[in-house]
Amino acid sequence: MPYIDTHAHFDLCIEEGTGVEEDLVAGLGMNGIYRAVHVTIDTGGFSWALAFARRHADRGVLFTLGIHPSSKGDDGEFGKLERFTAGVMESDDAPLLFGIGEAGLDYYRMRQTKDAQIRSFERQIQLAKKWDLPIIVHSRDAAEESLALLGKYAPLRGIMHCFSEGSAMARRFLDLGLHLSFAGNVTYRAALPLQESAAYVPEDRLLLETDAPFLTPVPLRGKKNRPDYVVHTYAYVAELRGTTREHLAGKIADNFKTLLPAGKDGD
Ligand SMILES: [Zn+2]
Repeated sequence: MPYIDTHAHFDLCIEEGTGVEEDLVAGLGMNGIYRAVHVTIDTGGFSWALAFARRHADRGVLFTLGIHPSSKGDDGEFGKLERFTAGVMESDDAPLLFGIGEAGLDYYRMRQTKDAQIRSFERQIQLAKKWDLPIIVHSRDAAEESLALLGKYAPLRGIMHCFSEGSAMARRFLDLGLHLSFAGNVTYRAALPLQESAAYVPEDRLLLETDAPFLTPVPLRGKKNRPDYVVHTYAYVAELRGTTREHLAGKIADNFKTLLPAGKDGD
């Protein structure tokens, strides 16, 4: 089955003891996952991410470059992101770089001031546009603010990662051209608005992810999450949408492809 995990933090999985690198990566192929995106959250993770994607390119591993809203995103850090992105894009490694992010606004944790988050997010949207890469967006307790900022640059190619809003909000993000990606929390019993959204999203804009090591899907909730557990989210969402896993996986594979620039489609 051609599954994809569009958002995972392999470095954090390894740090948290979810599994060793070889085990996590071997788990992809064993579970029919032919693509996984390793997402960075700060400049300190860039070199590892590139090396990791190189090591496992034959297993469909891609990576992103970005600064999470909870990470420091000042001029110095943004400069590093800009230079690293240019270096990769102008090299033979360009096909391994999937997008810019995760970037966005997190007004729940508030580890950085709102002004700092907005500035970092906006510059990353501009950087994604400059290189024609998808923007991977993290938005928590900041939907209106995220919409306002993203709206300035619409139409956009990108992903609302771990989408956790109801269908009215889903509509507004879809109108900007974005894809919505659902994580394991869509399987939680109390997640009704989220389930409503996952049922509502047109099938050409839907993606699934683990956000591993976080948000482990039912029935494995309570364990640390890992990329190969995305199969449980496929099973849940297929049932929610009244379709088969095969159909859903095919659609998601097509959707993911539309986010890859021409010529980057290596499968
Ligand atoms: Zn994440």
